Amino acid sequence: MDIGSFTIEVLSEGHFELFKDGHINRSKRTEHLATSPKDPSDSNSVMVGINPVLVQSGNHNILLDTGLGWGLDAGSQYTDVSNVCTNLRIFGLKPEDITHVVLTHLHYDHAAGASFTNMEAKTKPTFPNATYYVHKQEWDFALEQSEGQQLSYSERYRLDDFYRLVSDGRVTFLTDDSTEIIDGITAIKTGGHTPGHQIVILENDGEKVYYMGDLLPNEYQLNEYTMEKADIYPLEAKKKKVRLLQQVCEEKALLLFYHSGNGQAGHLFKDDDKKYILAKQLP
Ligand SMILES: [Zn+2]
Repeated sequence: MDIGSFTIEVLSEGHFELFKDGHINRSKRTEHLATSPKDPSDSNSVMVGINPVLVQSGNHNILLDTGLGWGLDAGSQYTDVSNVCTNLRIFGLKPEDITHVVLTHLHYDHAAGASFTNMEAKTKPTFPNATYYVHKQEWDFALEQSEGQQLSYSERYRLDDFYRLVSDGRVTFLTDDSTEIIDGITAIKTGGHTPGHQIVILENDGEKVYYMGDLLPNEYQLNEYTMEKADIYPLEAKKKKVRLLQQVCEEKALLLFYHSGNGQAGHLFKDDDKKYILAKQLP
C-alpha cells in the first residue's frame, strides 16, 4: 500500500502458537485465529501472526521488527518457513538492500530475525548494510534480565546473537522519547509492554500510519487496555494506549498490527457504545 511517497508491505511469516512461558511453536491450529482470547495470558497458548513491516522511501528500505528468523541459520530445522528474507525476495529485495531496522523491543519474536548463524558457526547481521535502532532503556533492561538479576521476564529475551550486533557497532541506541529515523519515520518510546518499548509513526503527504509493536499486538486488544501478564508495566501501557488510540482516531491514521492473524491493518472508528472498531484494510 502507498502512504504518500512511502510504500508499505506487511511481510507475514504466518501463524504460530505462543505459549504462556513465551515459547513459540509452528501452528496447525489456525482455526482459532478469529476467536483469539482478549488477553494472551488467559489460556495456555494463543494463536499469533508474525508480521514485520517493510517501508520503502526513495533509496531507503526500512524494516520494522524482523520476525522469528526461522530458517535463516545454517542447519536450521525449519526449511519450509517464510522468514523475513524469503518475504523480501517477493518484493525484489535482498538482505543487503535494507538500510534501517527499527526494533520495537528485543523480545525474540520481534528481534530474532536480526541476525543468523552462518556455515562457519559465526553470528552475522541478517541485513549487513543496515543500522539497527533499539531504545537504550530496552537494551539495559534486556541485559539485566539476561544477567539474572531479575529473571521473571527473561524468557522472551535471547540475546546471544544480539550481543554480536552490538559489539560489531551495528546497533544505534536511542535515548530520547522521540527520534526521527529518516524524514517522516519516527520512533516513539512508550514503555509499558517493556521499559524501553517503542512504536513507529510513519507520516507522509498528510497521511499517517501507527505501527504499535506489542503495545497493541492485534485487533482483539483494541478495547482492552492492559494485558496484565504480558505487559511489564500495565498501567503505563494503558495510559499510552488510551492516548495513542485517541490520536489514531482523530488523525484518521492507519494502524498496523504485528501479531494479527487476519487483520494486519485498518482504520479506527467508534461505535455507538464508544468502543473502537477496526475497518480492516488489506495491506
Ligand atoms: Zn513482546
